Amino acid sequence: MELVHTIPEVRRRVAAARQKGKRVGFVPTMGYLHEGHLRLIDRCRERADYCVVSVFVNPTQFGPGEDYERYPRDLERDRRLLKERGVDLVFAPDVAEMYPEEPFIRFQIEKLADHLCGPRRPGHFSGVLLVVAKLFHIVQPDVAVFGQKDLQQLLLIRRMVRDLNFPLEIVAGPTVREPDGLAMSSRNAYLSPEERRQATVLYRSLQRAKELVQEGERSARNVREAMRAMIESTPGARIDYIEIVDLEELQPVERLEGRVAIALAVHVGPARLIDNLVLEIRGDDVREIPAI
Ligand code: AMP
Repeated sequence: MELVHTIPEVRRRVAAARQKGKRVGFVPTMGYLHEGHLRLIDRCRERADYCVVSVFVNPTQFGPGEDYERYPRDLERDRRLLKERGVDLVFAPDVAEMYPEEPFIRFQIEKLADHLCGPRRPGHFSGVLLVVAKLFHIVQPDVAVFGQKDLQQLLLIRRMVRDLNFPLEIVAGPTVREPDGLAMSSRNAYLSPEERRQATVLYRSLQRAKELVQEGERSARNVREAMRAMIESTPGARIDYIEIVDLEELQPVERLEGRVAIALAVHVGPARLIDNLVLEIRGDDVREIPAI
């Protein structure tokens, strides 16, 4: 495994791999890796012969007052984990390498950022698309893998690739959870032991929602209200949003049918945590879709 910090070094390594006929896979991350990231890497290695991982805490996707400065970082540990997992190339640029000057060009997003995290984090997805587009141009992968944990991000990136004709395939990886259901996240490091216990309410409320739907509930409002009641009765948890949306345009639905996502963001102590569940509902048949 090689670790490089500059764009020309990445381009040289990837060009050499391609010369040998290798298919290039890519997993972008912000580091402080956990099993959720590592499973995306396993997926990447199943679909490509040369696996590139980036580790970069991207300042343009953090709003003022968000956790850019305190976001956890440990490149030495990440390097060790990535090597054990069979990654070929790690790209860990500094901010000046990615943004030598203030970028003047940004993405304007229609529809897909109107709900969920979009309005709560103005500019966030525009910053995500900016860095992902840059990374795609730098690495030029054949396939890139993203987690369903960040569902809105996944769908936005898929759409960017389609709208802008990036020649690559986007593959989704299922949300990887702790044994008690909490979705793995680098931000879980912010939680005290007590907050860590409270944080399981996100998963528990999603499981309750799924049960209700399996029992025949189809009203989005009723499902949301049941989740709200559960979370509001958890000390330390403060709801940012609970929404049920379609998967084409991420617009709220009134009735649960076809493919829908139940998504939420909840503040627990110093952390803002997100989670979601994708269901496919056909008549009485209710199935969870772990990777869309
Ligand atoms: P991040 O480092 O948080 O920007 O995440 C990098 C990639 O890992 C994104 O595609 C995330 O969706 C994905 N990811 C983060 N947490 C998980 C998880 N618990 N399960 C699956 N994928 C995840």
